[in-house]
Amino acid sequence: MSSPPSTQAVWWLRRDLRLDDNPALLAAAGSGRVLALFVLDDALRRPAGPVRLAFLHRCLRDLDARLGGRLCVRTGNPADVVPALAREIAADAVHIAADYGPYGSHRDNLVERALAADGRRLVRTGSPYAVTPGRLRKPDGTSYRVFTPFYRAWKEHGWRAPAGPADPTWLRPTDLDGGGEPIPADPDLGGTELPPAGEHAAHERLGAFLTESLAGYAAHRDEPAAAVTSRLSPYLKWGCVHPRTVLDALRTAAAAGAGAAGAEPAAASAEKFRSELAWREFYADVLATTPSSARTDLTETLAAMDYEPPGDSFEAWKWGRTGYPIVDAGMRQLLAEGWVHNRVRMIEASFVCKDLHVHWTHGARWYLERLVDGDLASNNHGWQWTAGTGTDAAPYFRVFNPVSQGRRFDPDGAYIRRWVPELRGLPSDVVHEPWKLPAGPPNGYPRPVVDHAAERREALDRHARARHHA
Ligand code: FAD
Repeated sequence: MSSPPSTQAVWWLRRDLRLDDNPALLAAAGSGRVLALFVLDDALRRPAGPVRLAFLHRCLRDLDARLGGRLCVRTGNPADVVPALAREIAADAVHIAADYGPYGSHRDNLVERALAADGRRLVRTGSPYAVTPGRLRKPDGTSYRVFTPFYRAWKEHGWRAPAGPADPTWLRPTDLDGGGEPIPADPDLGGTELPPAGEHAAHERLGAFLTESLAGYAAHRDEPAAAVTSRLSPYLKWGCVHPRTVLDALRTAAAAGAGAAGAEPAAASAEKFRSELAWREFYADVLATTPSSARTDLTETLAAMDYEPPGDSFEAWKWGRTGYPIVDAGMRQLLAEGWVHNRVRMIEASFVCKDLHVHWTHGARWYLERLVDGDLASNNHGWQWTAGTGTDAAPYFRVFNPVSQGRRFDPDGAYIRRWVPELRGLPSDVVHEPWKLPAGPPNGYPRPVVDHAAERREALDRHARARHHA
């Protein structure tokens, strides 16, 4: 057998499961023949949970179809699999989008070293973010810990235009085509319904959001029943669309709406949506610069705080049985869709940290197991923001009251009725406090597992003691 030509490259995909606007793919395609590789890595599969894995498999199937069946899937430790495969096809280089998470960056360094020992290169082009994590610095050279100045710097810095569409024929066959494993079957989802997966679905979602919902985003994004948010998070998580593409489409949509009737709310909505995308970038930046914040408190201020181990009430929270309707509606949405509205995520996290006094890591882990968009940076820092241990120094005394949050953001109870069938027959004035009915909550719905007013006082006492010892 003749030896393979040296103009082959590996395009190793991880969180960039798309062909359009993919600088790493463009860089690889410049090298000649390209093998598209995805490595099923148990270190990432284990904590992912069935919902995220199923969505990943579906994205891989979509991509494989777009590549004419030429996606090479292998199982194993990337530090072994990637260099071995590069050797097999005599690739000069392996092309990736840089990963800034604690596991991903360590893994890539190991792969880079193993490749270099063999005379090959790991080439990093782009990242899953509009602005590379770690690039923005305060004037004193330290990284940002507060969102608003980060956002200002992020907008000032700006981002490149999308890298343009890709042509799958660039991925000319390599000697290893057909040498991969089958994409695994979906795990049992236990009834969770997922959104359509893949690049095409991501673009459809983006288009539908911009034309149908963007205008009402600023006014209604906090109302879980209104369903005006983009629901792009699973696609951003897996890179079915790059945030740069989203920002570009947003700019075009906002420019098209300028001057038209309703232009003012539309402009406010575009700005609000841009800032939400920036939260994702902010948290990635914080994680890149402080990797330990994935697992432990970012700040030391509550180091002396007393927490409870997760017990029966935490179990009740996990399965939507706390007796607080808005909390249970959110947890049941999580179980049914693998997704929860942002306002409700904050209510959930506050309940765990401040009503149950359980450390945020327990709730964050359950979320990562169940979310289709589960993302270490956004999730664990979203939890820490609520817990009062993270960025932006959210005042600890801001304890979310599940009843008043429900009344404020789901005033007629439509969201609750959608996800908690036991309460469907209740009118708006009691749906947030069904335990106040003379006969108690209907249809076997539980009474509250804790007394919010008492636990709020307890949370504040614990906080005062922790601050005293800080
Ligand atoms: P939109 O409102 O349409 O926002 C557009 C995009 O901006 C989102 O897709 C997301 O990428 C980003 N974004 C919006 N809000 C935030 C935010 N507060 N922080 C970071 N990025 C944001 N987001 C995840 O992607 N994965 C997670 O695992 C995750 N866990 C969270 C846990 C908690 C406790 C909290 C409070 C928030 C969490 N978020 C997480 C952030 C936010 O809730 C989701 O991104 C959002 O609900 C996704 O819905 P959407 O795409 O319709 O959002």
